[in-house]
Amino acid sequence: MFRSIKILRQHGIQYVPNLRTAELTSLFRGRPVLSGEVSAELATNLAKMCPSGAIQQAPFSIDMGKCIFCRECEFAAPDNIRFTNDYHIATNNRDNLIIKENHDNPIVLNPDLVRKEIRTLFRRSLKLRQVSAGGDASNEMELNAAGNVNFDMGRYGIEFVASPRHADGVVITGPITENMAEALQICFDATPKPSLVILCGTDAISGGLFQESNALNRNFLSRHPIDLYVPGNPVHPLTFINGVLDLIGRE
Ligand code: SF4
Repeated sequence: MFRSIKILRQHGIQYVPNLRTAELTSLFRGRPVLSGEVSAELATNLAKMCPSGAIQQAPFSIDMGKCIFCRECEFAAPDNIRFTNDYHIATNNRDNLIIKENHDNPIVLNPDLVRKEIRTLFRRSLKLRQVSAGGDASNEMELNAAGNVNFDMGRYGIEFVASPRHADGVVITGPITENMAEALQICFDATPKPSLVILCGTDAISGGLFQESNALNRNFLSRHPIDLYVPGNPVHPLTFINGVLDLIGRE
């Protein structure tokens, strides 16, 4: 026992005590804020340099569902674009991911869009099956981290499971390639209904850098309602966990 106490003293507390209020370093790139007057010329140049088409010129805006958080636009226009370390950026309303000028409000879920059965059935226990549909393993690693000793989302009854038969929904990462389209559908069909669909990361939400690729088949998304959009490239575990907690109605 003394050995265990000694190890505990040496290592300190490993877990994040409060996943709702934890602070991230200022280096983290979360919700952008657009301020000041952006000329038409600057907006055009920024839109041209954005590698994923996330910047719209009129009205000037950044779509977090397309942004890969490379910060190139911030470096080019530091007086007008600033990426904050706000990681509470998941939402169930796709339009909420589009940040317009002088918008400095937190991203929230629209409770009216949450399916009623979600909060009734999954509030205290939610099992999810993760499907990497052409993902690059970055989001997948962050989702693994969401369950590790630091973030420990299992404390809320939220866990990833190996079989879709045991899952209450699917978490999709990657841009959904043609080769994974059928497998994704089969996996979703195997989950008991009602079943959640969560898009995790820029690639899943919009296709990201691959959105124009012929190798994608994103028809799944037009066949099933999306319950949660979790932006990030990759997604931070705190963004995912807080988004899911908001969706299932946990404090
Ligand atoms: S940070 Fe986002 S919006 Fe800015 S250039 Fe990169 S991808 Fe485009």
